[in-house]
Amino acid sequence: MHTIFSANDLHDTIRSVFTAQRQHAAQMALTTAAQRIERIRRIGKWVDKHEEAIQQAMYEDFRKPAAEVSLAELMALRSEINYTIQHLGNWMKSHRLPTPTVLIGTKSYIRYEPKGVVLIIAPWNYPFVLAIRPLVSAIAAGNVAIIKPSELTPNTAKLISRMIEELFPVEEVDVFEGDAEVSTALLEMPFNHIFFTGSPAVGRVVMTAAAKQLASVTLELGGKSPAIVDETANIKQSAERLAWGKCVNNGQTCIAPDYVLVHQSVKDNFLQAFRAAVSAMYRGDNKPVVDSDSYARIVNSRHFERLRNLVDEAVAKGAVVSMGGTMDASQNFIEPTILERVTSDMLIMHEEIFGPILPVLTYTDLDEALAVVNERDKPLALYIHSRNRQTIDYIINRTSAGDTVINETLIHFSNSELPFGGVNNSGFGKSNGFFSFQEFSNHRGIMQRDFGTMKFIYPPYTDTVRKLIRFIGKYL
Ligand code: NAD
Repeated sequence: MHTIFSANDLHDTIRSVFTAQRQHAAQMALTTAAQRIERIRRIGKWVDKHEEAIQQAMYEDFRKPAAEVSLAELMALRSEINYTIQHLGNWMKSHRLPTPTVLIGTKSYIRYEPKGVVLIIAPWNYPFVLAIRPLVSAIAAGNVAIIKPSELTPNTAKLISRMIEELFPVEEVDVFEGDAEVSTALLEMPFNHIFFTGSPAVGRVVMTAAAKQLASVTLELGGKSPAIVDETANIKQSAERLAWGKCVNNGQTCIAPDYVLVHQSVKDNFLQAFRAAVSAMYRGDNKPVVDSDSYARIVNSRHFERLRNLVDEAVAKGAVVSMGGTMDASQNFIEPTILERVTSDMLIMHEEIFGPILPVLTYTDLDEALAVVNERDKPLALYIHSRNRQTIDYIINRTSAGDTVINETLIHFSNSELPFGGVNNSGFGKSNGFFSFQEFSNHRGIMQRDFGTMKFIYPPYTDTVRKLIRFIGKYL
């Protein structure tokens, strides 16, 4: 853990760690798959040994229930660790590529080499997994790394510092805790790659800083992820799955369904099933949701007030709270809330909600629903709930999204085989498994000549050579 007393200290410490890491990067690049796997295992073992401490830190940060830590943070981390360990040997091998006829006598392949010194900036909502999962991929690809956890979850940030201090020398992996000032100071360094998870607004700041160094970036951002529920959907199941996706982590999930577009003919059934699903999850023995141990809190009062304002503004403009609505500022509590009669002039249809508030809009013609989706930025996730294959394809063909999930929510993040990430405003560059490994690697193209020649097209460009060039251009 760095003890920093002044802005000068901060810049000096960052510079010295960065320099040490840059010197060490060449050595890390030479590590074998077995050596990288050993480092990744260290992380896995530490997590197993300290699961309770990790749960406790997040409970203190925003009352995240222990079971949600195990499920959404540690299970997702462990599966990525296991998947990486299983496949790393293959990923690190040279990947042979086909050779066009004209280049006969050569062979080509890709060798994934580490980018070098990488910076991982993490958000607060899944503060452990979103810092450590990218680290696993960074190490797998042979990089050295600096992590900047979120200042809004200080207990988890401290634990991440402790873990990294116990597991790695500073020149291999280090952590800088702190806020935007620390991030800004880090971003002045010429990192080879920056992996940022956070809001689109800060994503722009990060990309601007990266441009000065021409550092490559992976931006895992957010936005408004819509859910469409058509008239053929299994309404009870859809409502349960969307209620879970909306309420887990108190709605503070980058891929939480932000708003629902439901076919008018099934709206009442959907709302009833959604209410029942929320009660089943959080209102055992008919107690109020506030008493549930399974329900986290809004991370701080600034975000609580932001959410309260979104609801107040919508209601002032004619929206109706048709479920929930109870709020308690003293503990940043917001009950799962449904808003109806929402219109596009309301702030809640412009900002990412990032809380347990669900605008429910209705449609009768599917194209109307698609217009609502398409007039907004391309989302991180698009959820389609339908039993009609034609409708599903119709929606997929006429929209764009980072990922799309049919008849479920959230769980696509946990499949290391699937590319996870956004498009434009919701981010770019994909993570998970091999995709993350590639993000942290330079795809170095290598070609080798074994026999044959291109000498026949060298100057001088006689008639014969020109004919040959034309022939090659046309037929080979
Ligand atoms: P944020 O953008 O406010 O902060 C993210 C990180 O950036 C933090 O570590 C923060 O300290 C740092 N930061 C803040 N201001 C900065 C600045 N001016 N310069 C440099 N760094 C700065 O995001 P957040 O509130 O922590 O997280 C919520 C957002 O993250 C939501 O938009 C959510 O959708 C998104 N998110 C995306 C994913 C994903 O995988 N795509 C996952 C989780 C969260």
